[in-house]
Amino acid sequence: MIVILKDNPDKKQLANLEKWLRSMNLDIHYSQGSTSTIMGLIGDTATVDVDLLNALDIVADVKRVSEPYKNANRKFHPEDTVIEIAPGISIGGGSFQVIAGPCSVESEDQIKLVASEVRNAGAGLLRGGAFKPRTSPYAFQGMRADGLKLLSAAKAETGLPIVTEIMDLQHLNLFEDVDVIQVGARNMQNFELLKELGKIDKPILLKRGLANTIQELLMSAEYIMAGGNEKVILCERGIRTFETATRNTLDLASVALLKTKTHLPVVVDPSHATGVAQLVKPMALAATAAGADGLMIEVHNDPANALCDGAQSLTPAAFADLMTSVNAIRPFAFTGK
Ligand code: PEP
Ligand code: MN
Repeated sequence: MIVILKDNPDKKQLANLEKWLRSMNLDIHYSQGSTSTIMGLIGDTATVDVDLLNALDIVADVKRVSEPYKNANRKFHPEDTVIEIAPGISIGGGSFQVIAGPCSVESEDQIKLVASEVRNAGAGLLRGGAFKPRTSPYAFQGMRADGLKLLSAAKAETGLPIVTEIMDLQHLNLFEDVDVIQVGARNMQNFELLKELGKIDKPILLKRGLANTIQELLMSAEYIMAGGNEKVILCERGIRTFETATRNTLDLASVALLKTKTHLPVVVDPSHATGVAQLVKPMALAATAAGADGLMIEVHNDPANALCDGAQSLTPAAFADLMTSVNAIRPFAFTGK
């Protein structure tokens, strides 16, 4: 971290600043320019409050030259993290997984049917929302605890591990049979939730917030990892921009960039990113080429009558077609190295 001092800093304030920085076990390296003095801070600057430093009278500017995340940082962990989700089902380090299923669990027949269809097409995991974060309180809120039971039944029938979203820590005890706990975009910065998920031994699928930067996503992963749970899978699901023709704007550059910045697996959700079924396949292919370690795709047996997100849901046949094309692209994908 570099701290640029104002001209002729007050000596007493400078001494106080030095004392404070040294109390954080940082070494200080000075370079004296013709007009300004620069302090180079050497050591672990992750806990240094940049805003606080910037606000000091004698400080002109502060620049971070290293990232504030450690556990998630590829610099300190060059090898890709491989997360074993279930026996024989891993993600990361060349293992690619497709998570597929309906936006929401709607009935036993529906989830079991979609589960067997996506498994037959090559999906490795089943998704299905039980607790749904909906913009309107009048929209379908999910089957909640009953939905989790139906997901378990579909898992028992198909052998597919299940991925579903948690919205409230109070529900954590209901998630015992869930293989991957999803933190939705709206909860990416629910720090108390992240801290608790850091204490458990289950993979967490962390979706990027609607208006969050890549660094904020990595800092949220850091929250989970700092608690001891290193099994974090990142998910790019589109961000909100001025564009309204698609539901969100799929930030595919984030995928390639994340692969260079972190060793954690990165999954792309082209369904929520576009909101349009027709755009899901091309964006799934592009995401695969950009280096994604997996995809999350919404599939419904009857999209026109889905209780949630029908417009972006693929039929099982369209999903099977997507899988064939994705598998053809995989050998050419970016690896981040
Ligand atoms: C979902 O995957 O069901 C979902 C609600 O996605 P997001 O949190 O990305 O909006
Ligand atoms: Mn959805």
